[in-house]
Amino acid sequence: MFVFTRIVAQNVKSRGIASLAALSETHQMLQKTCRDFADNELKPIAAKIDREHLYPKEQIRKMGELGLMAVAVPEEFGGTGLDYVAYAIAMEEISRGCASAGVIMSVNNSLYLGPIQYFGNKEQKEKFIAPFTNGDKVGCFALSEPGNGSDAGAASTTARLDGDQWMLNGTKAWITNGFESEAAVVLATTDKSLKHKGISAIIVPKPTKGLELGKKEDKLGIRGSSTCSLIFEDCQVPKANLLGEPGQGFKIAMMTLDAGRIGIASQALGIAQASLEVAAEYASKRMAFGKPLLKLQTIQNKLAEMALRLDAARLLTWRAAWLKDNHKNFTKEAAMAKLAASEAATYLSHQCIQILGGMGYVSDMPAERHYRDARITEIYEGTSEIQRLVIAGNLIKELGL
Ligand SMILES: Cc1cc2nc3c(=O)[nH]c(=O)nc-3n(C[C@H](O)[C@H](O)[C@H](O)COP(=O)(O)OP(=O)(O)OC[C@H]3O[C@@H](n4cnc5c(N)ncnc54)[C@H](O)[C@@H]3O)c2cc1C
Repeated sequence: MFVFTRIVAQNVKSRGIASLAALSETHQMLQKTCRDFADNELKPIAAKIDREHLYPKEQIRKMGELGLMAVAVPEEFGGTGLDYVAYAIAMEEISRGCASAGVIMSVNNSLYLGPIQYFGNKEQKEKFIAPFTNGDKVGCFALSEPGNGSDAGAASTTARLDGDQWMLNGTKAWITNGFESEAAVVLATTDKSLKHKGISAIIVPKPTKGLELGKKEDKLGIRGSSTCSLIFEDCQVPKANLLGEPGQGFKIAMMTLDAGRIGIASQALGIAQASLEVAAEYASKRMAFGKPLLKLQTIQNKLAEMALRLDAARLLTWRAAWLKDNHKNFTKEAAMAKLAASEAATYLSHQCIQILGGMGYVSDMPAERHYRDARITEIYEGTSEIQRLVIAGNLIKELGL
């Protein structure tokens, strides 16, 4: 029993020898930097910003200084020039400290900067990437609408060319960083007759005349990040803000979400890791029937199952990131990672509350926050049902059926 206890404690600290051995020195240094930052700067404010719906402006700025707001963007555009494995590692550590800071970082990195990095021209990159890399400014990504979320190809927001301006009309819903962002990648229909092939991606600076924000959503979790609607009424933006080609928007959105799912998988890993740490720490101190909870096999079984699901999800996430870094197809693997990690986060945070008993249910301890934060990872950037469809679709293709 003692050996088992030691192994769990060691795994909580080191994330497992096998997984660490696969990391380069750079990745290990990044991991340590982010872990220290999360412990010193994020953990202390996480409960307050959750309770009071506060955007962690100062912490995001410091994350920018550390290079975390543009991890995989090339240095020539002001980014940190690291790879997606680095991004996954950093996202996990930041989310372990504060899941709200994690999603703000994830949206800026993968949903906003990502599509501009891959599809933007030189001018767009200079104008819309460089100022968004140091944490002063953040961007957002607007795909979902009140009438369609999973069915993203059914976008009803329109963009019509009017001279040298795009004229946007419609409403985008649930937009993370909606309040603070100073630019948005917006998916809008430029040719309705072509259905999803008539959707285009347009960069909209904020604020812009004709763009109003809806109310700040009162959410279950990740309450330090803002979520709101973007309401376009004859909103004009320059023709030059089209990203890629007309009609390429749906493809851009799907490619963006493939990468984004590695970010959300990593956010989920951070929440799961934090849950495991809280549970193991509490179990080592709480006495029941004359001994610490940690000595009870029922509790050990729970910790073992938690560690197992977490490590499995982490390996899937790092595999997806590695495939992306090596220019291989990673759509199925990113969906697997996001599905496994989000369900692991929900499971681990649920078990964490159970191990803490009554203390898990009150906000004196972070367990209930982790539980609330975990839930969204199964919903945004494609629900778990949609991830299963993506996995099955790719599997069937691979099998030639
Ligand atoms: C806090 C928060 C932040 C968000 N941030 C952003 C953002 O920054 N940008 C953005 O564009 N969007 C964002 N979203 C939107 C999010 O991506 C959508 O909520 C999500 O994709 C689900 O869409 P929906 O809510 O319309 O649900 P629906 O699509 O209506 O789905 C409802 C249920 O039906 C299921 N379902 C739907 N279709 C199928 C199917 N074909 N097969 C099986 N089951 C199906 C779903 O899995 C789900 O369980 C955010 C949402 C939230 C809550």
